[in-house]
Amino acid sequence: MYLRVFSRLLSAMAGPRPVVLSGPSGAGKSTLLKRLLKEYEGVFGFSVSHTTRNPRPGEENGKDYHYVTREVMQRRIEAGEFIENAEFSGNMYGTSKASVQDVQAKNLICILDIDMQGVRNIKQTDLNPIYVSIQPPSMAILEKRLRDRQTETEESLQKRLAAAQADMEISNEPGLFDVVIVNDDLEEAYGKLKGVLIEEIEKVQEAKKS
Ligand code: ADP
Ligand code: 5GP
Repeated sequence: MYLRVFSRLLSAMAGPRPVVLSGPSGAGKSTLLKRLLKEYEGVFGFSVSHTTRNPRPGEENGKDYHYVTREVMQRRIEAGEFIENAEFSGNMYGTSKASVQDVQAKNLICILDIDMQGVRNIKQTDLNPIYVSIQPPSMAILEKRLRDRQTETEESLQKRLAAAQADMEISNEPGLFDVVIVNDDLEEAYGKLKGVLIEEIEKVQEAKKS
């Protein structure tokens, strides 16, 4: 009994576990996480990554990403400011220590949207997140969604599709992800994602009441 209370106390003191969302570009990670952030305002916080890619229409600097040059990014990586960084589809991406600390300081569930290299690198840290892979129903559907999104050049699209093929195969590697969600029907996928995170969500909601 005392042991259970003590272990609950310890886990509450440690704050909520972060969440890693990974999966092929176009699988639906941003769509799902935007819904979570909207439905659970004051529960989740997004870890804003740095990238050297250009902003897409509608994206905001400091909200979707911190948009930086390769020189700036490289300098900051060398200065030890990043937890992890990767090269994806011809651009650099990285999670700064500050972006995670900003969210965790508010006792929110920190969501990281990162690629497979990021997942492997985060596994070497003591962040201890819940690892969720979002997968498309098929390569054909993924290609259609990416084309319909109209954000990529043909070259960038082909690079993303090649990376997606590898990602889909690796995602089922035992022990890599806590859960793999196939985003076919959006409502269903969102329901599954909430189901996986509900324990952490309730922890944050409880902590807010006390
Ligand atoms: P990611 O963040 O993983 O790159 P997005 O969230 O941008 O992917 O989704 C890619 C595109 O697919 C977007 O245009 C989005 O509106 C659309 N999309 C996402 N989920 C679904 C779904 N379940 N059914 C149909 N279209 C979807
Ligand atoms: P996009 O250009 O579509 O926004 O992102 C391309 C890929 O980069 C996605 O798989 C996304 O998860 C990944 N990504 C975004 N931010 C980071 C990051 O900080 N680190 C890593 N490793 N990958 C990231």
